Amino acid sequence: MKKFIVLIALMITAGIYGQKTYIQCGNLLDVQTGKILAEQTIIVSGNRIIEIRDGFVLGDSGDEVIDLKNKVVLPGFIDMHVHIEIESNPKTYIDRFTLNDADVAYRASVYAKKTLMAGFTTVRDLGGTGVNIALRNAINRELVIGPRIYTAGKSIATTGGHADPTNGRRKELAGDPGPKEGVINSPEGAKKAVRQRYKEGSDVIKITATGGVLSVANSGKNPQFTIEEIKAVTQIANDYGMLTAAHAHGDEGMQRAIKGGIKTIEHGSYMSEETMELMKEYNAYLVPTITAGKQVVEKAKIPGFYPAVVAEKALEIGPLIQNTFAKAYKKGVKIAFGTDAGVFPHGLNAKEFGYMVEAGMPAEEALRSATITNAELLGMSNELGQLKAGFLADIIAVEENPVKNVTTLENVVFVMKNGIIYSK
Ligand SMILES: [Zn+2]
Repeated sequence: MKKFIVLIALMITAGIYGQKTYIQCGNLLDVQTGKILAEQTIIVSGNRIIEIRDGFVLGDSGDEVIDLKNKVVLPGFIDMHVHIEIESNPKTYIDRFTLNDADVAYRASVYAKKTLMAGFTTVRDLGGTGVNIALRNAINRELVIGPRIYTAGKSIATTGGHADPTNGRRKELAGDPGPKEGVINSPEGAKKAVRQRYKEGSDVIKITATGGVLSVANSGKNPQFTIEEIKAVTQIANDYGMLTAAHAHGDEGMQRAIKGGIKTIEHGSYMSEETMELMKEYNAYLVPTITAGKQVVEKAKIPGFYPAVVAEKALEIGPLIQNTFAKAYKKGVKIAFGTDAGVFPHGLNAKEFGYMVEAGMPAEEALRSATITNAELLGMSNELGQLKAGFLADIIAVEENPVKNVTTLENVVFVMKNGIIYSK
């Protein structure tokens, strides 16, 4: 009798695991070639694509069939630069003093869901308070709905630098943060700061190599790390297999970041032609964030939206970003899709595609940068960024062929992440 019950239990378990999802795709976009494959069926089991077949295939009676016959299906997108904890608004600078981590976490969970529903199934979070680490874990455990997150935890800055969390505070509230809090002033401090991030559970390392727009500080472009400090960061990050990113607007700080071994340069606003050559020589990638550039210019025109010192920098730096991207792309600099969502409302990440196309990049290349290129950078080129047997089942759909109409990407109508359907 006991044996019989065990047998039945095994059969039921096998039945559950055996259930598959058949996604019938009228048009499947191969992001490698930019070409549409007509009438394909993607077969998903568990969290993976197990097969893609020609024609519309039906499974067994227990299998689920999804009809996307009049949609265009493509792999979920990867955004290499978001801040999932925040959404910039006039109260942002006060929020730091009034919100507890739990408040930040609840808000972040809303932003995470918006991001996923916009078709971004994976993001790299480039800096917050550490709530981003807990959010990643909660999403991985399927407690919260959101994209797969690779997070920097807290960005690393120098004293008074772009990611010094105490900028603009009165003295007794500012204190003197150190490597533990992500503020360094020597190569030794840099090593400690990276190891601290590793200990706290960061996946990637972000430094603020130059001044920035939204910090309460005078310069948006001065270099803020010595090359020795940057080399110390990348040395330890490499030891731990962590991808490195540098926020950089000014040219000098950017050059130090590239020569110091940083892999992705974020924004790149004042990038000179010499630095573009350096990017190619060192095989570094530009993460454009054009959408954020446009947003800060628009908001800086609203009185009181930003503090005066921030508004001034926004109007100077914001307008440069799309042009720099256009030049860098034409010069052959490698481009990794990234938006800086959080500077603008989460869920609007796909606007970046339109801005990239407007600046001269063909839509199929913009799509590749948001899929294949970013998967490679994350060390996931065999699991993310394409629809292929063996890959993780991150699958989205839109109404039209984005190669012909790129704005269709702003209206994602189907999202599957890790084999789970979040909308139809
Ligand atoms: Zn950013």
